[in-house]
Amino acid sequence: MIGYTVEEAREILKEFSNSPSVIDKVINKSHTFSSLDTDKSSKEIPKFLKILNLSSFICAPIMQKNGAVGGLVMGCESPYTHLTEGDKDIVYILAAQIGQAVENAGLFEETYRSHQELEQKVQQRTRELSSALEEIKTISKRKSDFISAVSHELRTPLTSIKGYASILAAGKLGELPEAAKERVEKINKHSDSLSQLINNLLDISRIESGRVELKFEPISLKNIIDSLGDMLAPAMKEKNIEFVADIPLGLSTVRADKGQLERVFINLAGNAIKFVPPGGRITVRAKATENDMLQVSVSDNGIGISNNDIAKLGEEFFRVDNEVNAKVKGTGLGLSLVKHIIEAHKGKLTITSTLGKGSTFTFTLPKA
Ligand code: ADP
Repeated sequence: MIGYTVEEAREILKEFSNSPSVIDKVINKSHTFSSLDTDKSSKEIPKFLKILNLSSFICAPIMQKNGAVGGLVMGCESPYTHLTEGDKDIVYILAAQIGQAVENAGLFEETYRSHQELEQKVQQRTRELSSALEEIKTISKRKSDFISAVSHELRTPLTSIKGYASILAAGKLGELPEAAKERVEKINKHSDSLSQLINNLLDISRIESGRVELKFEPISLKNIIDSLGDMLAPAMKEKNIEFVADIPLGLSTVRADKGQLERVFINLAGNAIKFVPPGGRITVRAKATENDMLQVSVSDNGIGISNNDIAKLGEEFFRVDNEVNAKVKGTGLGLSLVKHIIEAHKGKLTITSTLGKGSTFTFTLPKA
């Protein structure tokens, strides 16, 4: 066995490069060049025997997809060993396989490198997304803190406005003329709606920032819906609305904060009353779903909501531009509050509606 030093190999390579007939044969035509050859390249044989320091040799093309990329040289030192045509075939096959293996290794390396690059890009994007998320959280917290601070500041003077208006309306500072009484009652009424708006704003920001401590307990949906029906009976009677509660017997209780759950129902049913025509119908249904959750829906056959507007419901202050809203006052905070309360219970609110036919507000709550 014989090997070559780096310098020797360099010399051999130089010799090959300087022999156009050999290059043409091995690289361009992908044939073997050997000491057995008798064609025109044979005159190069003695030179290569000398430089290779062998008594016989075979140089076979290292083949890749786009042709030969080099040559594999094998040979014998002993003058008594004679190469055969069969040896040429073996070296030819070996060189072809080496070419294939080198090509595969290159492809593998390329795939590996692009995989690494991809991984780096994913990591980079993940870092960017996390920092964007952190920024959103900070901004959202700032927004909640701002709303909370402003609401607190507004509540105090409002309480005294309302207090004085009540004193005046009650005639505690002397009987008021009818016209003044009417105005004072208006102050009182508007102060009530303003105070409700401020309370809703405060609640949204508290729930959003997790500052409201929910008192979870097992709650019977039937009980809560029955008392909802009783509570809203006068408003429903006024519009001759039919109230249907469809709660299966033996339905398990939900795990919820009673006060907050009542607000969900009051807001949803209150909206339904607002948006159904006289003689309309409101249906409350509840059922168990597969994943340890209960599903509750409040449906009405009212004016409905377009798909475009559904997508915006739950955004603070959003109200659909329609005839009813033009007449009836509202803040556009009710659904946002409902959404936050449900999400704080690990539930989800979904809305389906058809314009002119009615709407269904469905939410899930965990079983107790
Ligand atoms: P508000 O009732 O004070 O306007 P909400 O947040 O409760 O605020 O509701 C936002 C808007 O969603 C309403 O103004 C209304 O346009 C629409 N909406 C809510 N509930 C219904 C419903 N049952 N039918 C039709 N539209 C509804």
